Amino acid sequence: MNVIQVSDKKFSLSMSEKEILTQVKRVASEINRDYEGKDPLFLGMLNGAFMFAADLMKEVNVPCRISFVKFSSYQGTETTGNVQEVIGLKESIKGRHVIIVEDIVDTGFTMQKTLATLEKSEPASLKVCALLCKPSKLQVDLGDALKYVALNIPDDFIVGYGLDYDGYGRNFRDIYTIVG
Ligand code: 5GP
Ligand code: MG
Repeated sequence: MNVIQVSDKKFSLSMSEKEILTQVKRVASEINRDYEGKDPLFLGMLNGAFMFAADLMKEVNVPCRISFVKFSSYQGTETTGNVQEVIGLKESIKGRHVIIVEDIVDTGFTMQKTLATLEKSEPASLKVCALLCKPSKLQVDLGDALKYVALNIPDDFIVGYGLDYDGYGRNFRDIYTIVG
């Protein structure tokens, strides 16, 4: 099944589950090396990162915890405009080594805001583990926070492996790129 229909658009197969899992294992081994004895807390970003987080965690073998959170942007009263609110974070991240598990970094604005929001809670360290990154689209410098990236991809819209178009397509085990 190389071409699929999701809602009103067609997508063609661009990365197989096998290729994805090879890179997921690679980043997991980097994390295992870097977080030995650090008792990290993984924060999976809903909804897009659910499948990636599940596969990643199966390869992480240091003692750790995982929690899933959702960020909602809302118009704050501050003049700075959009601020973010974390939904579902029950445990304190103060003094913890936190790894954000994200589906995709595109312009980087979402991750910049997410990092700024979580920094306020004073984690011991804060890094990002992203399934995908579109380097040609990055508009902000995330510095060394963007430490783990499974796959760099071109600037095309993709679905599958947790990522959606119009709410659909998250259930595909492979990644598909928009056609045309
Ligand atoms: P950023 O703030 O980095 O521009 O956007 C990141 C968010 O945009 C991701 O968390 C994701 O929700 C969405 N996004 C960016 N590129 C894609 C894509 O190719 N496919 C899908 N499904 N979502 C994307
Ligand atoms: Mg997202």
